[in-house]
Amino acid sequence: MSPTDIDGKRATVIGGARSGLAAATLLARHGAEVFLTERDAVDDRMADALTKAGVAFEQGGHTPRALDADFLVISPGVPSTINLVQQALRQRLPVYSEIEAASWFCPAPIVAVTGSNGKTTTTSLIAHLFRTAQRPFVVGGNIGYPFSDYVDELTDAHTVVLEVSSFQLDHIQTFRPKVSVLLNITPDHLDRYDHDFNKYAQSKFRVFENQRPGDWLVYNYDDELVHDYVAMWAEKRGITPWPFSLEHELERGAFVRRDANGISQIVMSLPESLEPSSPTMIFEEELMPSSNTALQGRHNLYNSLAAAIAARAMEIRSDVVRQSLTSFEGVPHRLEKVRTVHGVHFVNDSKATNVNAVWYALESFPGNVILIAGGRDKGNDYGPLKSLVTEKVKGLVGLGESGDKVMAELGPHAEHNARAQTMEEAIQFARLMAEPGDTVLLSPACSSFDMFDNYEHRGDTFRRLVQSL
Ligand code: ADP
Repeated sequence: MSPTDIDGKRATVIGGARSGLAAATLLARHGAEVFLTERDAVDDRMADALTKAGVAFEQGGHTPRALDADFLVISPGVPSTINLVQQALRQRLPVYSEIEAASWFCPAPIVAVTGSNGKTTTTSLIAHLFRTAQRPFVVGGNIGYPFSDYVDELTDAHTVVLEVSSFQLDHIQTFRPKVSVLLNITPDHLDRYDHDFNKYAQSKFRVFENQRPGDWLVYNYDDELVHDYVAMWAEKRGITPWPFSLEHELERGAFVRRDANGISQIVMSLPESLEPSSPTMIFEEELMPSSNTALQGRHNLYNSLAAAIAARAMEIRSDVVRQSLTSFEGVPHRLEKVRTVHGVHFVNDSKATNVNAVWYALESFPGNVILIAGGRDKGNDYGPLKSLVTEKVKGLVGLGESGDKVMAELGPHAEHNARAQTMEEAIQFARLMAEPGDTVLLSPACSSFDMFDNYEHRGDTFRRLVQSL
């Protein structure tokens, strides 16, 4: 929809938290008659802001008034399965996500990052690249501020770096990033996709569905599912995709190769002219030794390769990319080193809310890990972790609602086992199992809502308790 189409339209925004408020006020500023509907209570500050923006609202449930609209905008936290949305879809009322609505007003090119794991890390790394390059940019979406909050202040000289979740992608129509980055697809959030992995994967693929020749589609070559789909899709659309890989040397994209001295180098193979549709030569460049990247672990090397291509696509120079990859310190709650106590390292990976993230966390340590895992289980299969647990985990501490399930499935593969009721107890058990040189790793594979407000609260609790040891 174009901004001029909004004037005089009737829009309903579903969800009265930050994204909903941002979308409602944005649409109202552009002349729409906006109604907001919230299942629970709308707090006083929110109510004030809505009233000031001329947005009518209801709270404590959705009434038929919500369907009296030309289109609906759904907040990312609201599942598409709720009655209101299903009813709207049955009535053929368009339902858009918040990033879709914001994108109607966006004059700036968008770099959109999605995937099951690594979104925040990669988005933050790309933001760091723009900051180092001293280029005007804003970062948001799933992290920081909702896109709708600042879109009106952008010009075409900015770049928008967006972390995009599958929930946002479920309801796009014209959202078209200049650069899309698809990191990986592994089972997560299946509870919101009828436990159908294919449905979840399809929603991730939508990040590039509106891209055209000349746009950049950056993807993980080693993720078979992603690779197969992108190859098929890009050929059909006449788009040249840009892969990154740690397992293959590629003709184009980014990969890792041992040089003559046996040093593993990041190699970038990109067009000499950065307009990918033009038939220029590919230029191969050794960027830097992969061990010089500040972020540790194989998964982070994937994130670094993806970010490097995205940055080059946006014409950030190689020397700036080098400098940024060397200086980026990472984001809290993702393999965050907290402290070393009597030779025992404590690492907070509270954001590891699925099995795949734990796999990569374990992979990034040489061994001697005491793993604290468990929480609210989203239908996890812990099977893929068994061999890594055998290889690297000395002690396993089960925590939270799924602690027993974790212990039953993974316990037999670790030397020592304990079941904790609180985070404090989990840390105490872990300390008893640990010797100097070992790592105590909180990497739960589960969400935090059984015991904490969110993963930050869980990670902060772990950090605070470790700081006080
Ligand atoms: P997201 O925003 O997609 O949830 P984060 O960057 O917050 O991703 O990282 C979530 C968890 O996944 C952390 O435990 C992190 O260490 C791990 N992780 C980061 N990048 C990757 C990756 N490329 N593949 C697998 N796991 C990753």
